[in-house]
Amino acid sequence: MIPVVEKFISINGEGTRSGELAAFIRLRGCNLSCSYCDTAWANDNNAPCKFYSAQELADWAESSGVLNVTITGGEPLLCGEIGELCMALAQKGLRAEIETNGSLPVSGLANEEYRPCFTLDYKLPSSGMYESFCADNIDFLQKNDTIKFVCGTEEDLDTAAEVIERYSLCDKCYVYFSPVFGQIKAERIVEFMKEKGLNRVRLQLQIHKYIWDPDKRGV
Ligand code: SF4
Repeated sequence: MIPVVEKFISINGEGTRSGELAAFIRLRGCNLSCSYCDTAWANDNNAPCKFYSAQELADWAESSGVLNVTITGGEPLLCGEIGELCMALAQKGLRAEIETNGSLPVSGLANEEYRPCFTLDYKLPSSGMYESFCADNIDFLQKNDTIKFVCGTEEDLDTAAEVIERYSLCDKCYVYFSPVFGQIKAERIVEFMKEKGLNRVRLQLQIHKYIWDPDKRGV
């Protein structure tokens, strides 16, 4: 059974489907502990949750009438039934997206017929989780996937630019910069992109934090 701390309908706040309606399924537990985590309440292995089968979650998503399904956390790849869930969603013609912290291999899902689209974080120094990225994941990226750099400092920006170049990331997938909310000005990120000539990198703000209270859950 799959431990779900919350599920709700809202709009995607980030990623290539930003602004589109999505059914969110947030799973319990995370293997990292980032300095800026805004879902720490969901990461504790004892956090209150409900258990569902993959089929029950797919039925719920289908009944919502929403096409996009965002599976998030915590860290969804910790869930042993994540493949079953993706398959159940695909069988209903729903568009599954997994938001992962990038530290665990995506290979188990990446070659399947029911492959979801991935948004992978690349953790930068200010997260406190730098060097957690599973480099093998680069080999499994496809054009519709996203690598996201959440930047809070100048060091983060420099590191992100170096990683983008090292792996030619912009040739492989979408690449996003996103500011740590309240820590670095989006304006500074734009300046940095101009200084470095970062064509094909996109700045993205977490729009749900501008629409609702930044600490509000279930949105
Ligand atoms: S990986 Fe995501 S959920 Fe886990 S601690 Fe970091 S920000 Fe929070």
